[in-house]
Amino acid sequence: MKLRKVTAAAAAALVLSLTATACGGDDNDSDTGSGSGGGGKIKIGIKYDQPGLGLKEPDGSFSGFDVDVATYVAKELGYEPNQIEFVETKSADRENALARGDVKFIAATYSINDERKQKVDFAGPYLLAHQDLLVKADSDIAKGTDLNGKNLCSVTGSTSAQNVKNDIAPKANLKEYSGYSECIAALQSGTVDAVTTDDSILAGFAAQSQYKGKFKLAGLKLSNENYGIGVKKGDTATVDKINKALEKMESDGSWDKAVKDNFGPANYKNEPAPKIGVIVK
Ligand code: GLU
Repeated sequence: MKLRKVTAAAAAALVLSLTATACGGDDNDSDTGSGSGGGGKIKIGIKYDQPGLGLKEPDGSFSGFDVDVATYVAKELGYEPNQIEFVETKSADRENALARGDVKFIAATYSINDERKQKVDFAGPYLLAHQDLLVKADSDIAKGTDLNGKNLCSVTGSTSAQNVKNDIAPKANLKEYSGYSECIAALQSGTVDAVTTDDSILAGFAAQSQYKGKFKLAGLKLSNENYGIGVKKGDTATVDKINKALEKMESDGSWDKAVKDNFGPANYKNEPAPKIGVIVK
């Protein structure tokens, strides 16, 4: 069933990309950003439901570390903030969104790994996070193996869900939703006993005023998640430009400022700025 779904999605992506080529993908109206700036727009994929990383606010504005990184990078590519159009790219949609050309690049807690590198190219890394667990404040779940036999939530298409199945807790009853906000709601209602994904994401949720004191992070470093900026496979010119932008962001103090602004309120103890081009295994 699962395989059939993947095959259908891959076929759909292929048909779409062939159609785009046939129609002339360079049509200005649907341009995802040529890199030239000027009066055009650039479309950037982010998350909409992850406080501190990528969040669509009730007034329609956007906040978070990924949003700040994306805005900085866009500027270096020649686009002012008012030329940016943010598009929601959920975990399972990211590779297809890039293949279809829906967005020029994706900054959405997107871990670099070999499987994804077959389908997309990555600039970065620009943040190192680690997989962790979020549980109720009074929970006695303290390590990965405590999850076996428990109800656990993660997101479809994430490395977090994959790691649970592969090695962290293959016998957990894993529920996969399309976004982490749905997992948090399930934790609050008691439908699941734990939520697992990157500590950066979990810390942002735990710090929300409505959840203060209700949840705790286990503090486990279950994996290394090297966040990259995804671009369409083969667009090495954009990868190079984004890497230069990220290096500049780290050296001119903007990276530190973005960390303080976005992770400070959640009291998230982030790792130091990664060296661009170096993946921590
Ligand atoms: N960083 C992990 C991933 O890329 C988990 C967070 C997410 O789903 O965006 O899969």
